[in-house]
Amino acid sequence: MESLFCRSDREIMEMLGLDKPFQARIIRDSIIKGVFDFMEMTSLPKAMRERLSQRFRSALSGRVMEKQEADSTVKLAVSFPDGAIIECVRLADGSGRYTACLSSQVGCAMGCAFCRTGTMGLVRNLTAGEIVEQFALLSSLGERISHIVFMGMGEALANFTAAMDAIHELHREDGYGISYRKMTISTCGLVPGIKKLTEVDIPVRLAVSLVSADDGTRSRIMRINRSYPLQELKQALVSFQHHQDRRLTLEYCMLGGINTSEESAEELSRFCRGLDALVNLIPWNPVPELGFTAPTEREMKAFENALRKLKVNYTIRRSKGQGISGACGQLATDARTRSH
Ligand code: SF4
Repeated sequence: MESLFCRSDREIMEMLGLDKPFQARIIRDSIIKGVFDFMEMTSLPKAMRERLSQRFRSALSGRVMEKQEADSTVKLAVSFPDGAIIECVRLADGSGRYTACLSSQVGCAMGCAFCRTGTMGLVRNLTAGEIVEQFALLSSLGERISHIVFMGMGEALANFTAAMDAIHELHREDGYGISYRKMTISTCGLVPGIKKLTEVDIPVRLAVSLVSADDGTRSRIMRINRSYPLQELKQALVSFQHHQDRRLTLEYCMLGGINTSEESAEELSRFCRGLDALVNLIPWNPVPELGFTAPTEREMKAFENALRKLKVNYTIRRSKGQGISGACGQLATDARTRSH
């Protein structure tokens, strides 16, 4: 069965063979409360519950294949009926705030050299419903999730319509009710996508995986830079901020010996000029097959000092969940091989 999210009552009626629109609403409300088993939807007639549960395993199309936990991070591997497998993560910040990190595609076509998902290539786009189902599954783990980041597998802006539909569904007042301002879309710098996001003008936050503010280095590590170099990216970001007036995050994945020199800090400082941006330093999470090294403590300190001197607004994020490959740039489905 395809996902029931992002559907009208009539569509749900047709998909499930229901008699009345209010029955579709009961089912939708139940899923949002974390009830996925039709037999447990006791507001429906018993015969209907029995018929639905004989026909469908669950009210969700996605099935959790694996659950891993470390440092209060929970990672789920979720499979869909066509055999596609994605991962989603629930992160805790220690102060009781929970964030869902959702995937937007199965694999990714962007091929960023430091990212494990990039090694998979693009298998397919996720539907809006499949994106929302990840939130449903993470919410059913028991804690209230208030924030969402589209930083799982895939480039959300390359699956623009589905990502927007999912964002609207997650925002619905009669649904999860997540504020747009608590949702962040991450992009590797897909300029046409940033322009479209500027045009749709919904107050979601934007994070750009910058990695280097030098065109030569960035083009070597991130193929997207060959199509949309830094100057074009910056123009798109200036325009985005002009319309939306919200602080951007520039994700700066620190790669040992590659983007941590004083010169790199100066380039980064120049890129930040004219933008209201917070640089998020993320020491690279080692992925053995990718051939990079994590920065040393000394390298990180020297880079931070250089940024401080240059008055660059930055923060440092130690990724959680490294032990379960749930950290930034580590998502890729090991389980993929087991499903086929
Ligand atoms: S960093 Fe993001 S855009 Fe780049 S390959 Fe990984 S998932 Fe794709």
